[in-house]
Amino acid sequence: MPEGHVTHRLARALADAFAGRPVSVSSPQGRFEDAAALLDGTVLTGADSVGKHLLVDFEPGTVWIHLGLIGKLLFTDAFPAPNPATLRLRITDGVTAADLRGPQWCRLITPDERAGVVLSSGPDPIREDADPERAWTVVHRSRKPFAAVLMDQKAFAGVGNIFRAEVLYRHGIDPMLPAAQLPRPVFDSVWGDLVTLMRAAVDVGRIDTVFDQHTPDAMGRDPRVDRHGGEVYVYRRANLPCHVCGTPVATSDLAGRNLYWCPVCQPAGSVGRPLPGGAWA
Ligand SMILES: [Zn+2]
Repeated sequence: MPEGHVTHRLARALADAFAGRPVSVSSPQGRFEDAAALLDGTVLTGADSVGKHLLVDFEPGTVWIHLGLIGKLLFTDAFPAPNPATLRLRITDGVTAADLRGPQWCRLITPDERAGVVLSSGPDPIREDADPERAWTVVHRSRKPFAAVLMDQKAFAGVGNIFRAEVLYRHGIDPMLPAAQLPRPVFDSVWGDLVTLMRAAVDVGRIDTVFDQHTPDAMGRDPRVDRHGGEVYVYRRANLPCHVCGTPVATSDLAGRNLYWCPVCQPAGSVGRPLPGGAWA
């Protein structure tokens, strides 16, 4: 499941490639055929993202895409399209093509329905219009572990397993802390940290969460080797030494997703502390 910065990057790439021009739209696989016929030859007016939802706007309507666990939207210059039997949607100007395969869904929706998608999503830290009070309302009423609420798309849209694990670590929060016990100043810092980390990930295309003093250069250690890329503290570092205290990183299953944390930097019962100006406490 991609984290929210991936869908924001896709929206940006679609707009950069096609916005303001008529494009060819097709569904070689056939499952989006009628909608594609309606959009074919019309102007792609823009693209947007909220949480893990991708919205591609055309003059006649919006294509609402959720990639789900296996969906992919890739840019290519291959003509004709390879593997058309799996290609749900192709958008092309004849030079570049954006190919969508295996989405959880891909639907044509009206402007009213588009507004509904944005309204019904939780606040997305990447978006300028996000209201953190909506996230706080969920957090301070929940008895679930804060680590679980961080993955609730109605509270923190776009946050996935990597941002969840790393923002908990950076604030020294016990992942199992009941969300309602999180102090407001720590929540405010977590929200601000998500804004910073997630927007940076949109810009650079990878997730980096270590402070300056913990980069490979600063610590004289080898860079991380992982298909997710990026320098992190705990995500997928089970049993490896914590960059700060050397304790082996712990892992367990929480609601079907692997959770990672340092038992010393994030001791049981810790409510965490705000980041002072974004610096390491
Ligand atoms: Zn540690």
